[in-house]
Amino acid sequence: MKLDLNEIALYAGKRYTYTLQEEPLGRLSEELESDTPVSGTLTFSNTGSAICVRGRFETELSAVCSRCLENYRLAINDEIDEILPLNGVPSDSELYLDDAENPIFRDNIFDLTELLRQCILVQAPAWGVCRKDCKGLCPVCGADLNKTECSCDKTEHLNPAFAKLSELIEDKTE
Ligand SMILES: [Zn+2]
Ligand SMILES: [Zn+2]
Repeated sequence: MKLDLNEIALYAGKRYTYTLQEEPLGRLSEELESDTPVSGTLTFSNTGSAICVRGRFETELSAVCSRCLENYRLAINDEIDEILPLNGVPSDSELYLDDAENPIFRDNIFDLTELLRQCILVQAPAWGVCRKDCKGLCPVCGADLNKTECSCDKTEHLNPAFAKLSELIEDKTE
């Protein structure tokens, strides 16, 4: 959704409250898919040199567990506090407001979908797990250790890279 902020941009002191009810955003990354509407409230206010965007949003994602590779539900509940500079004043935001490919704010048109996409990606954990004690996959046979137990010796296979290394060391000692 793109919002035309021209009217707010015209008058210092102008405020506008927007009720968020966005369609799911679709695939966000290899592990994350937005499949639930995004809801919340945003307030836009013109401070004279910028438009402040403040509010909250919440949604739910379908995510892939980084240990067992199963899908799980990831709730996102985040605050929005962004400054959209008027008249081309540079922004110190961590978001890519001026990104050439996906500008969030240009010519007083505000790309709400792109802002939400970036906020969700910042908020989602980089190595998310389906639950804190997820046992993951067996590094030897690939079995899902949450569902089954296998009899593999896992001590030597904690990490495939280390397994390779110990093979090399064994070769040398022979
Ligand atoms: Zn898991
Ligand atoms: Zn196994």
